[in-house]
Amino acid sequence: MIRDRFAPSPTGNVHVGSLRTALYNYIYAKKMNGKFLLRLEDTDRTRLEAGATENLLNALMVTGIETDEGLILKDGQVDQIGDLGPYIQSERLAIYQDYIKRLLDQGHAYYCFCSKDRLDTLRAQQKENGQTPRYDGHCRDLTAAEIDQKLKNSESYTIRLKLPANHQIAFDDVVRGHIEMNTDDLDDQVLIKADGFPTYHFAVVVDDHLMQISHVIRGEEWLPSTPKHIYLYECFGWEKPLFVHLPNILNDDRKKLSKRQGDVSVEDFLKKGYLPEALINFLALLGWSPDSEQEIFSLDELIQAFDFSRINKSGAVFDRAKLNWMNAHYIKELTTEKFVENMLPFLLDSETISPDQISEKSEWLGKVAQLLKERIEYFAQIPEELAHILNDQFEITDPEALELLAEESTGRLYKVLAEKIASSEKLDVERAKAILKEIQKEEKIKGKMLYMPARIMITGEMHGPDLTLIMDVLGKDAVLLRLAAMKTLVAQYESDEEVKNG
Ligand code: GLU
Repeated sequence: MIRDRFAPSPTGNVHVGSLRTALYNYIYAKKMNGKFLLRLEDTDRTRLEAGATENLLNALMVTGIETDEGLILKDGQVDQIGDLGPYIQSERLAIYQDYIKRLLDQGHAYYCFCSKDRLDTLRAQQKENGQTPRYDGHCRDLTAAEIDQKLKNSESYTIRLKLPANHQIAFDDVVRGHIEMNTDDLDDQVLIKADGFPTYHFAVVVDDHLMQISHVIRGEEWLPSTPKHIYLYECFGWEKPLFVHLPNILNDDRKKLSKRQGDVSVEDFLKKGYLPEALINFLALLGWSPDSEQEIFSLDELIQAFDFSRINKSGAVFDRAKLNWMNAHYIKELTTEKFVENMLPFLLDSETISPDQISEKSEWLGKVAQLLKERIEYFAQIPEELAHILNDQFEITDPEALELLAEESTGRLYKVLAEKIASSEKLDVERAKAILKEIQKEEKIKGKMLYMPARIMITGEMHGPDLTLIMDVLGKDAVLLRLAAMKTLVAQYESDEEVKNG
């Protein structure tokens, strides 16, 4: 059975790269009818952040990535399911003690009593001499008596991996192919730290084995560590999982995706009103491509289409414009109700409406949704877009617009339009359409000469979304006020024309 896992460290917000790793693991497990595990790697006690685990589980839940085993969110609380737990590394310390003992007994690991000061000095010296900093093996050959004595004296220690000299480590990565490394180029990795916690490198191997992981699918940044992991599997005599290293995610400048160039955390994107399905679709195509031109994929379609052979080796550029395009696509597909649901937090936040207005304004909100659906790339753009539409303090400066307002027919249009709106009971889309039709028939003002000046008088602009919808959203009183403000303008242009003509 295929078993893979997402093994994040709870160190703050969820990076989009982490979500992609989780996604690929999830998709692959689903595709193969396997199990997707979530294990928390919290052994670096200096980097823990409160709330990070909840954040993480929340990001997965929102994006539809469900864990089969390991950590889950139950009634908002972190919980664990499965028989091979605990799935939180800090709850597995006794297990690591057991396995480190085996390595010590077999001579694959050794106690290291070097002080931090000694190691710092060593590193500084090596750097100064232009060497790659690495442990010099100072404690490799302590005698059993020496070790006992130091332990009795309660000297602080770490436990290191004892790598043999000139030993070739080889493995086949599913994406990268055959990889070899000589132990002469590797450091005697710390396996147990001075605080008694295992390092990532040790815990990851023990846990992947005990949790029966068949596929390790993770970011490329872990590729250089993999030979050490492989060597540990060999020491224990364990069967190795398959390794699948995913390409880095890059900024436009082809450097690793960083905060400097904009948002990088899942929370950032969700907060801005990116839809989870768009985020998932976009991330799925960062480093993997389908066997077709298709770009829009639901999670189910991804599960169908995904396969390892189409994972790229080279880094994938995080193209924000493409993400926006994709999000706009998903936004257009939303029902009005869903659109309103997504838009509301932004309207409340910007105080465009207050909570007690929501129900009385529900019809109006539906119209705003229709008006803005085609116009936004993400929901945080809503307040500004709407404010723009609701703003009646506009100035008309475009010469072409001014010319249209100066037309004789615009004078007539202006008058009847204002009259017809004033005598209407209310101004909804249907009524607005009917009025424009009536004017067309009665005044013989048609096409561009009808719609453009009407739009300019009501919105100040030559182009924009459906005018009748705008009229509906603004409402009768606001439209009349806007027309009233035009009165002098239209008249003034008229008289200017007269002056010029005369
Ligand atoms: N804890 C590691 C991380 O934070 C997991 C790496 C792995 O998947 O082996 O990414």
